[in-house]
Amino acid sequence: MDRITAIINASLELLEPPVRLSSADWSEQNITLTSSVSSRTGRLRLYPWQRAACDFADSPDVSSLVLMWPSQALGKTLVLQSILGHSIVQNPAPSLILQPTVDMSESFAKTKFFPVINATPELKGLIKLEADNRLQGQGANSVLTTRFPGGFCVIGSAGSEASLRSFSCKLLLFDEVSLYDPSAGTGGDPITLALRRSETFADSKSIYASTPAINPGCRISMEYEDSSKHRWTCTCPNCALPWVFAWADVRWDKSVGKDGKTVHEVRGTWMQCPHCQSRYNDKARVQMALSGSFVAERPEITHKIGLHASALITPLPARKGFGGSKMAEFADEFLKSSKRGSFYMRGFKNTILAEAYEVEEEKDIPIETLLNRRETYPTFEETGEPILHERAGLITAAIDIQQSRLEMEIVAHGANNETWGLLYHVERGNPDLPATWENLKQLLLKQYRHPSGRLLTVYLVFVDCAYKPDAAYRFARRGGLYNVMCTRGTSGYAPAGQMSVSKSVGNNERMLLIRVDGVKNSLYDLLQVEQPGSGYQHFPLNHELGYDEYYFSTLLSEKVKLNASGRPTWVKKASQSRNEGWDLRVYNMAACEFANPNWAAVEKTHAQAVANPWNEPKGGTVREYTIKAPAPNAPISLLDMPKPQPRRQPKSGFVSSLFEN
Ligand SMILES: [Zn+2]
Repeated sequence: MDRITAIINASLELLEPPVRLSSADWSEQNITLTSSVSSRTGRLRLYPWQRAACDFADSPDVSSLVLMWPSQALGKTLVLQSILGHSIVQNPAPSLILQPTVDMSESFAKTKFFPVINATPELKGLIKLEADNRLQGQGANSVLTTRFPGGFCVIGSAGSEASLRSFSCKLLLFDEVSLYDPSAGTGGDPITLALRRSETFADSKSIYASTPAINPGCRISMEYEDSSKHRWTCTCPNCALPWVFAWADVRWDKSVGKDGKTVHEVRGTWMQCPHCQSRYNDKARVQMALSGSFVAERPEITHKIGLHASALITPLPARKGFGGSKMAEFADEFLKSSKRGSFYMRGFKNTILAEAYEVEEEKDIPIETLLNRRETYPTFEETGEPILHERAGLITAAIDIQQSRLEMEIVAHGANNETWGLLYHVERGNPDLPATWENLKQLLLKQYRHPSGRLLTVYLVFVDCAYKPDAAYRFARRGGLYNVMCTRGTSGYAPAGQMSVSKSVGNNERMLLIRVDGVKNSLYDLLQVEQPGSGYQHFPLNHELGYDEYYFSTLLSEKVKLNASGRPTWVKKASQSRNEGWDLRVYNMAACEFANPNWAAVEKTHAQAVANPWNEPKGGTVREYTIKAPAPNAPISLLDMPKPQPRRQPKSGFVSSLFEN
């Protein structure tokens, strides 16, 4: 080819329309990652599973794509961003990104959508944020719209009908679908509502992406079950057989320590081929993962492609302390989670293995089990008041308002969910009268003595304001205690890895919302821990502390049922009229979760005794205390228990003796 022809060809290329690129190629050539979006910065490089997902999304045969992926480890959000960015530039259409809540849609816009647009010149030139981007009326502030030539993109919330009613969409991106509420306001299933919006487009596409949650009822698992069921499949270099990495393939050595306990040597964790038993280190694991591909269990389904992958294929680096091995980090997390109970195992299964956590309808815990295992707390001979356990480091309280009484429980918490019930108290009286609250206030001001010589006070009080919110607010704001929060329980589960407690709508500083179902699962598991230590729930036999048969009947008052939409939820047992003991304990657990103590620091502090034990503040005198050794626990049969009595106000002598020092 001579020089002139070359110049002519080059000029002609300039006249041709832009080459149509695949989503994967377009995003690698155009998207630049900033530190606010991704831990990897610079020009986007897709992992092979991300590229495969983009290619499926491009295919004209595919109308639905389901990504059942772990959180963060594989870059699920980048796939959505690539598909959306590519569509805006090369195939513009009305599009919808649906997030579970208003907060999450705002956060998605702020931290994931606009940073990528700002860092991608080709997108930035096209996008125009609507000047008036808020819909008024019901669901106000819940819809954010951006426009571009040939289409628009709405970032909405699955909880709001307004996001789902007013426009037609061709591209639907359902993000974190496992967290969607069963109904968008009163409008019904949010996904059904959104899909109805796409019916006018014959070539509409829906992309579902989520970490799984609780089963039955986990939306992403249901969509995946309905799909081609592709799994990321590697090949064992030794036996050349296909291998879908499973948790059972992650192995480590165990030995017996000096104290007879099992020692897990997680730093030497390896992957073991299930066919030929070859062992692979972490580097070899990443190499196998990067050369894998999606293989379908049901290849005959071509319109709905489901892609599952677990974090076991992640190439992300390990956290410090695991010798650079991500597998060692996972093994460590697995051991910690299994020790802490099902709530944490749920997090492990959801966020690392990308599997739903199966909740079964639970068997009852017999009330005798808990009654019989109560223990006598050591007390001070002088005052009769109980002394804290050395592992107790944080004290919380919860108050429940009823028509003619207030119920309160004070609980001491230690590391790994070990707790000690300190007081269960019923205050009779009209909750609208400040006098009814006064006694509780005195109990909440009590100082508890820790064996290290420190005085501990109640750190945080949660008041359930479902009934008589005015009385709860009054106590929180003007009760004279600074650490009182109003709380409202709502059914449902917090996203795996996130707190059950969140600020409620309206940003009221003293009002918190608790998603109780996860806390309740956790509590139910903890009540079944049989050995003192990690996870154990201690209850006192000291009768003035109030943990009697009536208390335990209200503690064991709920059970798991599947609700109308098939989700496991906690309900009162049919035989049970009162559930305050259970609610109070759930609120105390949530309070500890919210306080989020640094247990390592607490334990370190408490390991050092103070010079003047239990020295009263304000220069009070140091006084001598003698700890009365508790009598050994004799087994108690129900026959020996006093008959349940109608609840009476405790004798005033008890209260004053507890607090006079
Ligand atoms: Zn093999």
